Amino acid sequence: MVTRPAEASVPTDNAADNAAEGTAEGPIQKKGATMKVTVDEDKCCGAGSCVLAAPDVFDQRDEDGIVVLLDAEPAEDQHAAVRDAAAVCPAAAIALSDV
Ligand code: SF4
Repeated sequence: MVTRPAEASVPTDNAADNAAEGTAEGPIQKKGATMKVTVDEDKCCGAGSCVLAAPDVFDQRDEDGIVVLLDAEPAEDQHAAVRDAAAVCPAAAIALSDV
């Protein structure tokens, strides 16, 4: 498919191609950034399982071990690790959604 910069955000009748390239009716998104991560610090008990599962996305505060979200929209190569982190979180403090 030929991408013309001036028309990159103009919807076409080929929505699948646009979605795959992150250009469908909106700002151009980081390729593969289809996951939105949120954490609930009030639920977090500082177990650290998320950091072990996805250290590029989660960290913990030094003072109390509460989760620190490093990347709210991780790249596609992190998605499996982030899903694992959410699955093993004993406090259900990690929520995932599509961007
Ligand atoms: S696994 Fe859950 S409870 Fe443990 S630090 Fe991460 S967010 Fe907090």
